[in-house]
Amino acid sequence: MSKRAYNFNAGPAALPLEVLERAQAEFVDFHGTGMSIMEMSHRGAVYEGVHNEASSRLLQLLGNPQGYKVLFLQGGASTQFAMIPMNLLTEGKVGAYVKTGSWANKAIKEAKLIGETYVAASSEEDKYMSVPDLSNLQLPDNAAYLHLTSNETIEGTQFTQYPDTGSVPLIADMSSDILCRPFDLTQFGMVYAGAQKNLGPSGVTVVIAREELVSNSPKHLPSMLRYDIQADNNSLYNTPPSFSIYMVNEVLRWIEEQGGLQAVEQNNRKKADLLYNAIDNSGGFFRGCADLESRSLMNVTFRLANEELEKQFIKQSEQEGFVGLKGHRSVGGLRASIYNAVPYDSIKALVDLMNHFQQQNG
Ligand SMILES: *Cc1c(COP(=O)(O)O)cnc(C)c1O
Repeated sequence: MSKRAYNFNAGPAALPLEVLERAQAEFVDFHGTGMSIMEMSHRGAVYEGVHNEASSRLLQLLGNPQGYKVLFLQGGASTQFAMIPMNLLTEGKVGAYVKTGSWANKAIKEAKLIGETYVAASSEEDKYMSVPDLSNLQLPDNAAYLHLTSNETIEGTQFTQYPDTGSVPLIADMSSDILCRPFDLTQFGMVYAGAQKNLGPSGVTVVIAREELVSNSPKHLPSMLRYDIQADNNSLYNTPPSFSIYMVNEVLRWIEEQGGLQAVEQNNRKKADLLYNAIDNSGGFFRGCADLESRSLMNVTFRLANEELEKQFIKQSEQEGFVGLKGHRSVGGLRASIYNAVPYDSIKALVDLMNHFQQQNG
């Protein structure tokens, strides 16, 4: 097989090699059916088995708390930015948001099209290089929910704990850090994630929600945008992205094989420590962007002394088989996305490259 790239893409991103190989092995003939999983009816028992397995595996990894439903939806996490207020921000209520950066702002922008919003906490003054302290949060009495972005993929910040919002449902966009560590699902009314960072390929968005939040949507909404219709139909109201859901199931199986979320977290910490230590021990040659306490385990943002040097670093990295190290166009700099599926060895190779580059240019 040809050499795999050192893949630091932000999304779509690296998938576990074992998952790709397993998918390849059953690509043409899925379990003796004489067809690919992509070629069969989504109403048939074989596909439905995969579909239901993915959803029960996901809940199982999160400790199987009672009262939650898994939905597999389309339109990306970006569609959830609109579906959440369409379904939950009803007359007389206000949608509360934590403003932490690029993705939080996109969520707020969509909610404003639907109803009234309230910024409950913000790190804008800090140029989004930290996450705000949420321990003394004041929410309006008529808050429909509090929405936060668990990990800001572009800025490279992440919450380490989540606020207690009492009776107000807490909703988290976990697109770029879902299942990077264990978390207590029962703290949340809803979490959601586009699959293409930590769960599988693009094409499916996973929503895990308390049943009461997906059981009574406004009747004027189009059917596809109603959580209750999606939930009542087990996400099979229309044709689901069956291949993407199959891949999510395989990624979840892989997480189980790694030893579950605790083992995955341990590995992620080892990976992040290796890279952040390389940055911190470079004597200022490389500089981390995010505040120390807010640093993301998944997206490591850093800079060099000037853009010229950054360009040179990216060019050299590409020549040596690295991809995806350029920072997002909106913030510049460098970014290494080190999701669950990025192997420790890729980060070791990156650290070697960084050391070598510093020797040449420092
Ligand atoms: C990538 C990303 C999104 C957007 O996801 P799409 O599936 O492309 O709509 C939203 N939120 C966060 C935190 C992301 O990282």
